[in-house]
Amino acid sequence: MWDILILGGGPAGLSAAMTAVRRKKTAAVVSLPMEESAIYPSRLVENYPGVPSVSGRELLERMRAQAEALGVEFLSGRATAAMDMGQSFGVAIGNDYTEGRALILCTGADRSGAIAGERELLGRGVSYCVTCDGMLYRGKRTAVLGFTRDAESEAQLLRDMGCSVELFTKKGSYAILGEERVEGLRFNGAVTPCEAVFILRPSSAADTLLSGLSVDGGHITVNRSMETSLRGVFAAGDCTGEPYQLAKAVGEGNVAALSACAYLEKQ
Ligand SMILES: Cc1cc2nc3c(=O)[nH]c(=O)nc-3n(C[C@H](O)[C@H](O)[C@H](O)COP(=O)(O)OP(=O)(O)OC[C@H]3O[C@@H](n4cnc5c(N)ncnc54)[C@H](O)[C@@H]3O)c2cc1C
Repeated sequence: MWDILILGGGPAGLSAAMTAVRRKKTAAVVSLPMEESAIYPSRLVENYPGVPSVSGRELLERMRAQAEALGVEFLSGRATAAMDMGQSFGVAIGNDYTEGRALILCTGADRSGAIAGERELLGRGVSYCVTCDGMLYRGKRTAVLGFTRDAESEAQLLRDMGCSVELFTKKGSYAILGEERVEGLRFNGAVTPCEAVFILRPSSAADTLLSGLSVDGGHITVNRSMETSLRGVFAAGDCTGEPYQLAKAVGEGNVAALSACAYLEKQ
């Protein structure tokens, strides 16, 4: 039985795990391979404090090595269900099973509604974050698929960065075109040439892992202590909502772990 079980081994989960072990708790991270983290395909991260220019892969590798050196354990696989057992939480990992006294959900944004070309060209012109990647496309043609309320202001931010922007807000049939890099966007049969496609959508429901979890717009509802609606369950990172950014994910992971430690100490 682990003190704290963390679902998801991206920046939020790794940050939570490191804080947990520093607070003398046993902690295990259940995760799919590092390659599944949103940041992995990013060629260049320029806004993470203290690490001015690094690829997503290198940043993750460094975080993971740091976590291992501090004593975090890793359980590979997909968590398929979590159950409240009263005094603990049981987690199914494929055919395996493990238990923790507290749970931290760090499963990232659910991008299961991917459109054609989205996964293949992620990090090669497809982005979910104007603040992170907009400057890479200064002076270039971009398209924004804006399904969030801030779509117009995000498109304006890109224009302010010197990009030319086509904003698409209607639902319809989309495909992102290109082999090695984004070359265009097809919407209802019409092709718009562009070098980047920014997709702004609310992530889908995260409550399929753990029943009874409160979600809002597909994001897990949390308070400032990163407590969810369920006692003993905390959440951090992209799964709790925008902005989808590393610094926010890492900060929330830290807070969630401190709150989980405080919860265990009161038990
Ligand atoms: C192409 C790209 C470029 C980006 N560039 C930047 C940037 O320059 N700067 C910046 O600040 N942000 C950037 N971001 C955003 C950043 O990647 C995310 O905000 C950050 O990765 C969120 O961390 P996380 O730990 O919440 O989620 P993730 O990094 O997505 O990690 C979640 C992990 O949980 C795992 N997981 C999910 N469900 C399960 C399950 N059921 N069982 C086991 N494991 C599971 C996933 O496989 C994944 O490994 C970028 C995102 C993308 C897509």
